Amino acid sequence: ATTPSITFIGLGPMGQAMVRTLLGAGHPITLWNRTAARAEPLVAEGARLADSPAEAVAASDLIILSLTDYQAMYDILSPVESQLAGRTIVNLSSDDPDVTRKAAAWAKRHGANFITGGVMGPAPMVGTDGMHVYYSGQKSVFETHEASLRPIGKPDYLGEDEGLAQLFYLANLDVFLTSLASVLHATALANAAGVPAARIYPRLVQMVTETGQMMDVGEDVGKNLDEGHHPGEMASATMMGATADHILTASKAAGIDTVLPSALKSYYDSAINAGRGSESWTVLYEFIKKSKA
Ligand code: NDP
Repeated sequence: ATTPSITFIGLGPMGQAMVRTLLGAGHPITLWNRTAARAEPLVAEGARLADSPAEAVAASDLIILSLTDYQAMYDILSPVESQLAGRTIVNLSSDDPDVTRKAAAWAKRHGANFITGGVMGPAPMVGTDGMHVYYSGQKSVFETHEASLRPIGKPDYLGEDEGLAQLFYLANLDVFLTSLASVLHATALANAAGVPAARIYPRLVQMVTETGQMMDVGEDVGKNLDEGHHPGEMASATMMGATADHILTASKAAGIDTVLPSALKSYYDSAINAGRGSESWTVLYEFIKKSKA
């Protein structure tokens, strides 16, 4: 069948939106949620509520999870792990990549297939063209279920290593959360001088969009990063570092928090002190990577 039955476990905002989308695509859906009341509206729309995790697992070959973290999966499925053999678990919850790899090994020990997912958007975007979802795990298993998963969002399959989906998700969220914090910091900097947040916030949001455009300078920056090549004709680390210093001194003078600008300035200081200030700002990559050692 093109619309096989699906068991869906976890009815937070994301799970609810996904179930609606999958029902709309014609899949028979069996639900389970720790708080059963959250299933009521979806049952009214055609889903079936299982009485127990065991009944939910038995209902479908494909089991999709949308839970707070991977511990919630163990809390729900460990008691029924002997019933997982031959089924496929697709976990769309967020967690550390290593936790997701260990979960895949756990599922395999019980004879189940395991695909990890990273959902790149909030609940209102589920099922829209703007939504995409990272997946990783055994390719043939992903391909078997790709059509069932597609209504949730555009699938972006990354490879067999089950950690990849959450690694890509976290890398995206690293940019996202840093951008959110930087906009709030910049708003506070202006606000300390009497500028209402309402006046500057929209301009800073615009800056986030423009930053993306400025980072795409027509060169293959990603390839340059891999090759350790940092041509600095347009924006040197020394020039950008001076600006980082101005942001820090202005933040101190304003009496606002300095954690973020101090971190930024320390990246530029590392490059400049190592004699690499004339290279592009991208040379920071070498010093950020180094901190891993
Ligand atoms: P919530 O945390 O609001 O809901 C998660 C679900 O997990 C609920 O069904 C909850 O059950 C269940 N749950 C949590 N702990 C346990 C447990 N110990 N045992 C059994 N069930 C448990 O999450 P969201 O719907 O917001 O998000 C789901 C996942 O999607 C998360 O991993 C999140 O990081 C990710 N995500 C969320 C986005 C968003 O905008 N919200 C965007 C992209 C990804 P109960 O109803 O009983 O509380």
